[in-house]
Amino acid sequence: MRNALGLMLMSVVAAATIAGTWLLTAAPHRHSAKAESVAAAPPTSPAPTRSAARVDAPEFTGSISDPQAAATPAQPKPACANPDALGLSRVVEVDTSGGPGFGFEHFKQFDFLADKEVVLTFDDGPWPGNTPAVLKALADECTKAVFFSIGKHASYHPEILKAVAAAGHTIGTHTWSHVNLNAKKMTEQLAKDEIEKGNSAVKLALGTAPAPFFRFPELQHSPTAMAYLGTRNIAMFSADLDSFDFRAKNADQIVTTVMSKLDKQGKGIILMHDFQKHTAEALPALLRRLKEGGYKIVLMRAKTPMQTLAEYDEAMLKEMKLPVAATRPVSSVIQTVAR
Ligand SMILES: [Zn+2]
Repeated sequence: MRNALGLMLMSVVAAATIAGTWLLTAAPHRHSAKAESVAAAPPTSPAPTRSAARVDAPEFTGSISDPQAAATPAQPKPACANPDALGLSRVVEVDTSGGPGFGFEHFKQFDFLADKEVVLTFDDGPWPGNTPAVLKALADECTKAVFFSIGKHASYHPEILKAVAAAGHTIGTHTWSHVNLNAKKMTEQLAKDEIEKGNSAVKLALGTAPAPFFRFPELQHSPTAMAYLGTRNIAMFSADLDSFDFRAKNADQIVTTVMSKLDKQGKGIILMHDFQKHTAEALPALLRRLKEGGYKIVLMRAKTPMQTLAEYDEAMLKEMKLPVAATRPVSSVIQTVAR
């Protein structure tokens, strides 16, 4: 049994590694991709149904109170152990009704950050080694971020995604398998499946619904998928500032890129990848530089959790189902019969 289980685990790890490698090697160059998506969906013109369907802005609060802490006063959160930490300046709550878009690379409607304010976002996790390292760097600086998880990766490493949630970060979704939803051969149904499978997989991995926050793989904004997300009341996240960490040669390069762009722009939603080793390595120094530069971290949260679709929850439950033996109590599988 152990050998069989070992083999199974190895094949899962191998599959995960292949998937990860595929992500790195098969992803088209982002610059050329971006030009296409701009042509398909001009940044200043929202998707057809969105402009008609919604005119109300998301609600933001400046409160840094933690509803969970308020609900359980007997267990206050431990104070930050680092007196010089970057910390968290404020928490904003997003009303995702109608699917508002954020990040000036593609969405210009909601300019909610003050000068020197920064939102940290991380895509493509959870991933062993790199995601825990990102979590540690954030914890060391007592600060919070938004993570856009790939459904497949969440299904491989639910325990890492749970650790992200337990640390108080916001978790959004990033499709099931990181396909380009704006590709020519992509159909409306396939795009819906990718989005909803990702949503349900992340929910299953977490054991609770994520935030209704979504980021398009490679920032490839398909107009029809945008319209669909609007009907699903899921907010869309582009970025104000791309770290291009996935092509950085080392950690230093990421720190330099982010800080020089930030010093020019003054604020913004920063796009990074907890999937990337160099990003995990860069984060402690980057967070220090943000602190030294007088930047303040803002955490985006959702007003209400994501409503996943029951049909996809059921389908993903079957697809992600653990071996039957794992769901049985130990005593029903193995018992001491002699000492
Ligand atoms: Zn991605």
